[in-house]
Amino acid sequence: MAAQNFDMIVIGAGPGGYVAAIRGAQLGLSVAVVEREHLGGICLNWGCIPTKALLRSAEVFHLMHRAKEFGLKAEGIGYDLPAVIKRSRGVAKQLASGVGHLLKQNKITVVMGEATLPARGRVSVKTDKGTEELTAKAIVLATGARARNLPGLEADGKRVWSYKHALQPPHEPKKLLVIGSGAIGIEFASFFNTLGAETTVVEVMDRILPIEDAEISAFAKKQFEKQGMTIREKATVKQLDRGADAVVAHVEQNGKTEKIEVDTVISAVGIVGNVEGLGLEDLGVKIDRTHVVTDEYCRTGVEGLYAIGDVAGAPWLAHKASHEGVMVAELIAGQKPHPIKPGSIAGCTYCHPQVASVGLTEAKAKEKGHEVKVGRFPFIGNGKAIALGEAEGMVKTVFDAKTGELLGAHMIGAEVTELIQGYVIGRQLETTEADLMETVFPHPTLSEMMHESVLDAWDRAIHF
Ligand SMILES: Cc1cc2nc3c(=O)[nH]c(=O)nc-3n(C[C@H](O)[C@H](O)[C@H](O)COP(=O)(O)OP(=O)(O)OC[C@H]3O[C@@H](n4cnc5c(N)ncnc54)[C@H](O)[C@@H]3O)c2cc1C
Repeated sequence: MAAQNFDMIVIGAGPGGYVAAIRGAQLGLSVAVVEREHLGGICLNWGCIPTKALLRSAEVFHLMHRAKEFGLKAEGIGYDLPAVIKRSRGVAKQLASGVGHLLKQNKITVVMGEATLPARGRVSVKTDKGTEELTAKAIVLATGARARNLPGLEADGKRVWSYKHALQPPHEPKKLLVIGSGAIGIEFASFFNTLGAETTVVEVMDRILPIEDAEISAFAKKQFEKQGMTIREKATVKQLDRGADAVVAHVEQNGKTEKIEVDTVISAVGIVGNVEGLGLEDLGVKIDRTHVVTDEYCRTGVEGLYAIGDVAGAPWLAHKASHEGVMVAELIAGQKPHPIKPGSIAGCTYCHPQVASVGLTEAKAKEKGHEVKVGRFPFIGNGKAIALGEAEGMVKTVFDAKTGELLGAHMIGAEVTELIQGYVIGRQLETTEADLMETVFPHPTLSEMMHESVLDAWDRAIHF
């Protein structure tokens, strides 16, 4: 059968790939998307969306326990884990099927199967019915990433889980060990801890959430410990002895090794890019530690081949993948898009309390030679936070003392994953302290703390 020709072929239908395809179609390109497993990728099926559905159940459960504080009565409070999981899977399914509709609406050809790149400009797809050959001048690699497996700590789906197992747990953890305290590890720790599992988090670095500002990590640690979690920093899981009903973890900390017995381990030690089996090496694509090397326009160096999203490296975030998808589609369609600004991509962790940040931490700003001014505002000083019963948290802002440029913002507390976008816009527009100070923030809102934090950097905070 003759190869089908398109203007653009996208490999992978995650938030990078499907968004690139839609933008390409909007610009008049003929587009095909190849997907081997599920439309919507990890994000919609096994990542962002189902985890947030789980965490919402945990949040409601937590609030039910606090009913009395709000003058309410809730008796016989409990949960049904299979029902919680069912809701999460349902939410994921609803959104993933929405992607199918969007692709159809935009007249994008979807080929379900495993893609390889036998030559420049060619894609071969192994489908249920045989092999389909596709050609295009532009090919966008959006094959995403998967959980990293460390030797000896590999997930087996029984007592040692990856995020996929944790999203469809074969049993309910009562004693849980989470290895790794990045966003994924901390979100699962927060979820199962809220449901009552005795939860320990082991982090090899000197603090949890190690990419966040050090003050935020310390604040988060205090809150998690208050909620009953055990946090072990500068600690390494050396070995897992797996039994039928339990796992014994050998945890090394401060030069000593301790054995911790749990019924479940979640391994959240990072991710690796899906670069294998595609034929990338033969095409001359550069790969650095499982990620495709690209320039600021996501070009791989091989003519007509682009890589976006998780397969192209950090930050491993859906919104980064989608934004790169839009940029690449515009580039292919002959437009002149701006490259993405890495310092304007917010990171959010939906644990309780939530964590969100954008730009440089205070330490990184100083390391880069900035003389900084730092503002802080605590949730306890905000009317809306108190009315919500959410008085634990803080907003920290970091400015260049000379220019007033907003270098970074770091937040912990209720709804900060929604609030952070205010600072993202500020950074995108290269806002200074003067603009932010002159902005009128609505009252009563949590966002007023964003204003107060800026004012505090210049010793002008009103409510603290
Ligand atoms: C538990 C968890 C929670 C997360 N939470 C968040 C969050 O809250 N916010 C956030 O921004 N990010 C979150 N992420 C990260 C987010 O899911 C990823 O950054 C995002 O999915 C990356 O999008 P992508 O399009 O690059 O790749 P993916 O979503 O991984 O999609 C890649 C697609 O390519 C397909 N594919 C791979 N190889 C081939 C091939 N050879 N042929 C055909 N198809 C192929 C795969 O089947 C997959 O569908 C989370 C991740 C996890 C695991």
